Amino acid sequence: MSSKKIQFDVIVVGAGLAGSTAAAVAARNGLNTAVIERGQQPGGKNFFGGAVYTHALQEIYPDLWDRNPPLERPVTETGFWFMSKDGMVKATVQGGKLNNDPIDAYVALRARFDSWWADQAKSEGAFIIPKTLVEEFIYQDGKVVGVKTDRPQGDVYAPVVIICEGVNNLLTQKLGLIDHDIRPAATALGVKQLISLPAETINARLGLPSNEHGLAISVMGDVSMGMAGLGFLYTAEKAISLGVGVTLEALRKSGVKPYELLQRYLNHPAVAPLIEGGQLMEYGAHLIPEGGWKEMPRLYTDGVMVAGDAATMVNALHWEGTNMAIIAGQQAGLTAVEAHRQGDFSSKTLSAYQAGLKERFVMKDLYQYRNLSRFLDSHPEFMDIYPTFLNDALGMFFSGFGKPKKRLYKDILRTLTSRRPLLKVVGDLVSFGRTIIGI
Ligand SMILES: Cc1cc2nc3c(=O)[nH]c(=O)nc-3n(C[C@H](O)[C@H](O)[C@H](O)COP(=O)(O)OP(=O)(O)OC[C@H]3O[C@@H](n4cnc5c(N)ncnc54)[C@H](O)[C@@H]3O)c2cc1C
Repeated sequence: MSSKKIQFDVIVVGAGLAGSTAAAVAARNGLNTAVIERGQQPGGKNFFGGAVYTHALQEIYPDLWDRNPPLERPVTETGFWFMSKDGMVKATVQGGKLNNDPIDAYVALRARFDSWWADQAKSEGAFIIPKTLVEEFIYQDGKVVGVKTDRPQGDVYAPVVIICEGVNNLLTQKLGLIDHDIRPAATALGVKQLISLPAETINARLGLPSNEHGLAISVMGDVSMGMAGLGFLYTAEKAISLGVGVTLEALRKSGVKPYELLQRYLNHPAVAPLIEGGQLMEYGAHLIPEGGWKEMPRLYTDGVMVAGDAATMVNALHWEGTNMAIIAGQQAGLTAVEAHRQGDFSSKTLSAYQAGLKERFVMKDLYQYRNLSRFLDSHPEFMDIYPTFLNDALGMFFSGFGKPKKRLYKDILRTLTSRRPLLKVVGDLVSFGRTIIGI
């Protein structure tokens, strides 16, 4: 019995944020678009900190707010907490430049949000195929013309395939767009707990005036036990999300177990009272491709483009991954539309995808921060000595009553120089500045 060939204009692999965006843009422009997702439903396998960014959401759906997005609290206070073994310096900002309308970032829960985001792609005409794993490509004359799935008679054809498979980019590797598996030194493991608490308790404990206020905090210092990495805290409406991300390489070398790292953070005296009495809603771990520019695969070849985490599009310092995935998905979708208009799916036509991204913050920022992951790896003092010094220095400054202040300042300085010579401190700060500016 011969089965009918299943043919689409575009196949998108993965219904995460990159995939559902690529599909929405392609379908909106008249292409017959399939999104193949291995999870039970879109978002079912997704997991993050975290916050999504309104600039990206609104770029895809200018009528975003009429669509009733399942967002949690707006981020009205954000910044860094610098953690020592038993102390915390909190440097956060609220109001002022954050008072935009709409607010720039919203906390989201990915299972709900990604499922809704995929529904929007469906409303544009995309066809979502869940519970289906893409295993291989179908080639004709050496070019990709479709994918093989784990379903019986599961071959699906299209002249363009957009790979949005996330960090574990096995298909991207299979195509030879990158010649190695994820590198432990350039990949972080994020482990987090989502802890449910009544909204009023969250507001009282974190000093939030109402449910319309929320926190997004990056935590630096003892949270990563001296390893290259960051912690985080986000407030959903009735839950607090707390986690830590450190590189796989650092974890391996230290022998510290991810759950021990997280538990230590949750037990910290400035953190434990925030979640006391809460109920565990979610506990999991997920990889973060932190290598950025230097680990990026080739972004396109004949009939194929790669977007989002699969292409290491993450700015780990700013927790920007979702917006990069969305904008890359959009660019890939638009390039697929143009390829259909021209009737040419060669890598020459698809190179417009990369050219478009180079004009956007995605490639500009990844290039600018190209040395960050290596810098943090080789400067553990930013995870250890400096946050601890900040805690000690401010603690001493604000408790130095009755002490001659000249001596106080000398004592403060000594807490730094006893750990790191002053010249090295200056050198560290200069190299940090150069790394961030990208020179
Ligand atoms: C702990 C943590 C905290 C984070 N915090 C933030 C934050 O606060 N803000 C932010 O912007 N970013 C954050 N990120 C990064 C962000 O989550 C990612 O950058 C973003 O989800 C990438 O989207 P994506 O669509 O590329 O990949 P994903 O969201 O991973 O989607 C990939 C999809 O492809 C599917 N798939 C994979 N392989 C196949 C296959 N072979 N066949 C079919 N389907 C397949 C998967 O099931 C999945 O649904 C965080 C990440 C982590 C881990």
